[in-house]
Amino acid sequence: MKRRKINDILYDNSIDIRDRVFILNIINLVVILTLTTLEILSIKDLRMESLSSVVMILVFIFIGLYSARTKHFEFGSTLTTFILGFIYWPVTFINAGGVSGVGTLWFVFCMFFIGTTLSGKKRVIFFIAQDLEAVFMFLFTFYNPEVLPSFDSLRLYIYSFTTLVLICSAIVIMISFENKLYIEADKIAKQQNEEIEGLNQAQNRFFSSMSHEIRTPINTIIGLNEMILREDISDEVASDAVNIRVAGKLLLNLINDILDMSKFQAGDMRLLVEPYSPGNMLSDLVGMLWIRAKEKNLEFSVNVAPDIPAELMGDEVRIKQILMNILNNAIKYTKEGSISLSVECEAQEDGVYNIIYTVSDTGMGIKKEDIPYLFTAFKRVDESNTKHIEGTGLGLSIVKQFLELMGGKVTVNSVYTKGSTFIIEIPQKATTDKQIGEYDYEKKHKLGKRTNYKQKFEAPKAKLLVVDDNEANILVVTKLLRDTKVQIDTAKSGMEALEKTLENKYDLIFMDHLMPEMDGIECYEKIREQTGGKSRESKIVILTANAGEENRQLYADTGFDGYLVKPISGEELENEVYRHLPREIVNVVGDSDEIAKETVSWMKSDKKKKRIAITTDSIADLPEEVIKKYDIVTIPHKVRTDAGTFKDGIEINTAGVLAYLKNTDKTMLPLSPDVSEHENFFADQLTIANNVIHIAVSKDIENSGYESALEAANSFENVTVVNSEHLSSGQGLMAAYASRLASAGMSIPDIIDRLEVMKKCTHTSFMVDTLDYLARANQVSARRANLVRAFMVRPVVVMKNGVMKIGRVYIGERENSWKKYIDHCLATPHLNTTMIIVTYVGLTKKELEWIRKRIERKVKFDTLYFQEASPAIAVNCGPGTFGLLLFSDPE
Ligand code: ADP
Repeated sequence: MKRRKINDILYDNSIDIRDRVFILNIINLVVILTLTTLEILSIKDLRMESLSSVVMILVFIFIGLYSARTKHFEFGSTLTTFILGFIYWPVTFINAGGVSGVGTLWFVFCMFFIGTTLSGKKRVIFFIAQDLEAVFMFLFTFYNPEVLPSFDSLRLYIYSFTTLVLICSAIVIMISFENKLYIEADKIAKQQNEEIEGLNQAQNRFFSSMSHEIRTPINTIIGLNEMILREDISDEVASDAVNIRVAGKLLLNLINDILDMSKFQAGDMRLLVEPYSPGNMLSDLVGMLWIRAKEKNLEFSVNVAPDIPAELMGDEVRIKQILMNILNNAIKYTKEGSISLSVECEAQEDGVYNIIYTVSDTGMGIKKEDIPYLFTAFKRVDESNTKHIEGTGLGLSIVKQFLELMGGKVTVNSVYTKGSTFIIEIPQKATTDKQIGEYDYEKKHKLGKRTNYKQKFEAPKAKLLVVDDNEANILVVTKLLRDTKVQIDTAKSGMEALEKTLENKYDLIFMDHLMPEMDGIECYEKIREQTGGKSRESKIVILTANAGEENRQLYADTGFDGYLVKPISGEELENEVYRHLPREIVNVVGDSDEIAKETVSWMKSDKKKKRIAITTDSIADLPEEVIKKYDIVTIPHKVRTDAGTFKDGIEINTAGVLAYLKNTDKTMLPLSPDVSEHENFFADQLTIANNVIHIAVSKDIENSGYESALEAANSFENVTVVNSEHLSSGQGLMAAYASRLASAGMSIPDIIDRLEVMKKCTHTSFMVDTLDYLARANQVSARRANLVRAFMVRPVVVMKNGVMKIGRVYIGERENSWKKYIDHCLATPHLNTTMIIVTYVGLTKKELEWIRKRIERKVKFDTLYFQEASPAIAVNCGPGTFGLLLFSDPE
């Protein structure tokens, strides 16, 4: 290899440092071997060894060349280490006189070679193998000293000495080289980091200036367009102008989103945490969105819990932005129906509240498989359906990043084609004990009819100065304020402004920021200090295209009296002027706080979402009374007959089932709800509750529906399915219990834990007249049913660890068997006497009365319910069945 070539490889940054070190190592090795071989040649005793050394040198040169040419460095280093350590070293160790010879020096070299050229597991294995080999060689030569040659010449001493010098020098060279490479790599990494940083800053500057540059013309478009809308124009022109307004605002949103995105990417996004009033924020927000919903004929309901603190610490602007995004999407992706916003709070520690915003819509929904991609920047899902709806796929990504910054989170529940619910949680500290109460949105809400513009005030005596280097901007402000009759002077530069302020006393000055020669901040300072200036005390508001929190801070620190961002609306501008003018020169026109009556209705909705909805199956035979009392919702099972499939309890009743069952030749099967039925059911529940706990039938029962409930729940983040390990009223009792815990305010994980205990304390059993029906519904084998019939026994079906089993069997008279069954159930240890449910299929009143008496004779329960089993259960068990469902207290 030519020197230049070796250098090229050693300093080629595209080659891994370890591989380059290997090349240097192998060169060192060949050099040491060559020098020592030359020396060996001069030692009479060792002349024979020189032959093997020459072979080694050739082998190593070959490996080095091969690795460098083919770039198979790893192969080269492994092979070299192997030959060096396990062939060359043991031979040298013995030939050179064992522990006292140069073998020990070569051992050090081998170890160093392993350490610097190998990596990972290979390095560890070679290390251990080399050590074991050394131990072996030591013991072997110790116990067999005759294998070692004995020589004692001055040459040999010199040989040992030169080997020591060469090996040590090689090690030093290797370490220094490696060090040099690492230092260089570190320098390059730092340089790259600086370059990336620089690029990021350049990108940021680019986005900020792009934002500024685009805002300026949009200001003209939106402002002058607003003037057109104020004129008496034809409907067609008005509709075109409205479209221009919508497009202008969209463009503006896009710029804002891109600016935010670039800040997040550069890690530059900061929050401005200040006290704010959530009531005012919501009022503003809903006011803006309500119009959009109305334009699409969507119902918009808002429900704000009165116990939300009246003042919170947070970044109001960003929270508004998050909610705007979510609510805008809800409106955008909903064709018909309604959208709703509900706001609640949960108190946490140290005055911190978890504020929960729930936005639901009845729109197009989101496919389950798309949900993980919703928050990816520039990603729009379900493009075949959404491509005609404007959007960039940035909104939700920004929402998520802001929430991460605020320590909050967003969850999505959606059923494709049915609608979506986005739940946003933001922890915030309250700064007051006061609660928002029944907030008076009406007063705060300033939503005039935009189409019938009417100026809020007139102030012909007021004197304003508008400073902007862009004539179009001046035109917009002047025109938008025309109807207020204020006197407006204009200046196209800082210098011109100073000339005017020297002579005139203005009530208000609107100042642009970026202007050539003298910028707005400098001009502001000069006006304030202007010797003889008449406007030193004037209110000065910055009116700029520089959006962003850092700018707001800059303007506040400078001392400006207000901050308006272009593009401005006429309303904003008027409000700002009104805010700063002395009241005595302002004439309010009409009632400026007037709000169209219809805009108020959305705030009045008193629907409040439940924290947790407890749901179960319709076969969870619960008395109507209990269902109502515990606010339990059930999903219907079905019964499939030759005449069709009927919804349990809705389209078919138990009497119908019993009549049908008499025809033994007809099929009748209970059917559980499938995945999509469960999905729809859960989606409905999530419109009235933030979370759902579904108490499902034992998963080990044939066709129980548990699996489909579980699969459906995967589409939602807030649905938990619990395997009740029971069915019928056993399952129902667990649902009632869960509901009690939920309304006591218990958390979801705690409820689930308590239900686990409860499963063992719930006792579900039925005494059936025959197993024929269970066999027909595939719940027990036909053989077992035949046996039971043949021996004329009455079996009791029990639920044990979720599995349906034949428990005891009773022989003899029906009444006698019933007695024994009841007595046995009531002898359950630690029986809880609060409630017992008797479920039955096809029993007469007399029979039921008999059962009641028998129970009451044994145990006094606070409540005893009789509940006819649901049709699906009736299909399973057949007439003459009754079951006692009870609780015991945990031991
Ligand atoms: P976009 O600008 O496309 O609306 P977002 O980041 O706000 O970007 O949303 C990403 C995607 O998520 C949208 O393209 C849309 O497919 C889907 N999406 C968001 N909100 C809803 C919703 N309420 N209903 C249905 N789909 C939605």
